[in-house]
Amino acid sequence: MAAPSSPTLSSSQLATLAALGEERTANVGDVLYRVGDATYPFVAILEGEVAILDETGNEIIRHGASGFLGELNLMSGQTVFVTAVVTEPLRYIAVERDALRSLLFDDVALSDLLLTTFIARREALQTVHGIGLEIVGPRSSEATMRMLDFARSNRLPFTWREESPAGGEPVPLVRLPGGLELRGPTTGQVSRALGIGRELARREEADLVVVGAGPAGLGAAVYGASEGLSTLVVESTALGGQAGTSRRIENYLGFPAGISGSELTSRAVTQARKFGARLASPYRALSLEPGSGSHIVRLEEDHEIVARTVILATGAQYRRLPVDGLSDYEGLTVFYAAGPPEAELCGASRVGVVGGGNSAGQAAVWLARGGALVTLLHRRADLRETMSDYLVRELERYGVAVRDRSQIAALHGKDGRLEAVTLEDGERLSFSFLFLFLGAEPCTDWLDAAVARAADGFILTGSAADAENLLETSVPGIFAAGDARSGSTKRCATAVGEGAMAVQFVHARLAANAAAEPAVSQPR
Ligand SMILES: Cc1cc2nc3c(=O)[nH]c(=O)nc-3n(C[C@H](O)[C@H](O)[C@H](O)COP(=O)(O)OP(=O)(O)OC[C@H]3O[C@@H](n4cnc5c(N)ncnc54)[C@H](O)[C@@H]3O)c2cc1C
Repeated sequence: MAAPSSPTLSSSQLATLAALGEERTANVGDVLYRVGDATYPFVAILEGEVAILDETGNEIIRHGASGFLGELNLMSGQTVFVTAVVTEPLRYIAVERDALRSLLFDDVALSDLLLTTFIARREALQTVHGIGLEIVGPRSSEATMRMLDFARSNRLPFTWREESPAGGEPVPLVRLPGGLELRGPTTGQVSRALGIGRELARREEADLVVVGAGPAGLGAAVYGASEGLSTLVVESTALGGQAGTSRRIENYLGFPAGISGSELTSRAVTQARKFGARLASPYRALSLEPGSGSHIVRLEEDHEIVARTVILATGAQYRRLPVDGLSDYEGLTVFYAAGPPEAELCGASRVGVVGGGNSAGQAAVWLARGGALVTLLHRRADLRETMSDYLVRELERYGVAVRDRSQIAALHGKDGRLEAVTLEDGERLSFSFLFLFLGAEPCTDWLDAAVARAADGFILTGSAADAENLLETSVPGIFAAGDARSGSTKRCATAVGEGAMAVQFVHARLAANAAAEPAVSQPR
């Protein structure tokens, strides 16, 4: 396992924590918390040493004076994945989770240090075999694959045993830290058993319900809640959306060195909670019933939300290559967009662009003009069937090699650095970077005919939907933001911006509704 980082707290940070928590002592052999515990306090070490062990007692790391214990579950409230045992007489400050969370809202430097360390520790734990959940089920079981996807997108440490549980039991079998076994559970049941996420009542009400917690939904949550709207966000899979899965976002304003998608979205989640937005996950929205003054969003497991306004931010899913290990490369050497940073990165390198549409053609030309040696791979016999003629000519002009009837079967490389690909016919091609333009599908099927959608399923807004403003759908009071919106720029910053902008339209709609309500007669 990559060693988790062990940064230390400054004396002024220890003093801040001491003012908020309680000073305690512990003897060698004492257990501060163990695998399966529901919760644990934040521990800042004044003197002594603590070892962190996995469920079978293997040591992962030790922390000494000025160090601190804890990882991402201190923020999310998840079940404890490791055991902490005192190895040298200990004097420490214990700060309860709620108190720590409020401190982090105010203390920027401490919040930076702790969040970055917690995220790095979680990433390290995800690489340790035997930590966290055990999921048992065969590859052929859809429920098993959905559970694995849920664990991956929520960055939960897990081990998958690819076998059928004995005796025809429902699959998957999910063993939680501490030993509790769930047979054929929903992702919601696992999530709540781990203590993650808010549990919704059968019926909830809100000024604003946001469906989807990617950058657009989180942007809407931060602005909605900070501007006084009772804001409820429902997310079917993992808070953070597509952006949360990106290894490195290089083009987000304010982060010149780039930032990992998980860090960016964890910070956004913390910020949304700070302003009082309620984030509920995993709850999939199944249908939307528009009304005149309020709308009903129905969720799985029979929950419903009555909302005065709705922001649809369910994003899109980029079609990915069906090859093993793809996620190891995504964001590092495999990309879904080609902009100036990628062109600079790829100069004088061998680059593969996959796709037969105009977006693939434009990217190939752009990268070739930046000095890359570009090969465009597509699966049809003739590129002209799917790409505009002018672009085909541009490909020739800039020396892009075109390979017809070519599909990738495997990727080769190390530590996220791509070295080569193998095509389905067995040929091996050397590439340092790969760009995938296989199209994106909006996550909007669940809307059915509730709001107008384009032929390709993306949600129509503004003049295309005969609506009053840019982000309103065909139904007044229901808005769309981010990748799910027809014509949007599929980027993180645009999604956040649209989420924030939609909140302004929400205010305008609520004000218009209030003005239209019949005046209540005043007693004489
Ligand atoms: C690997 C990768 C790398 C990327 N790198 C960059 C980059 O470097 N720079 C950049 O600008 N952009 C990047 N992008 C694109 C960027 O992530 C997206 O444009 C952005 O995430 C869109 O935000 P969104 O909120 O509109 O949608 P999403 O991020 O797709 O979020 C939508 C959310 O809605 C949820 N949802 C869907 N259906 C339902 C439902 N029925 N009920 C409840 N919830 C639902 C989904 O689970 C998801 O969490 C990358 C994308 C990928 C996949």
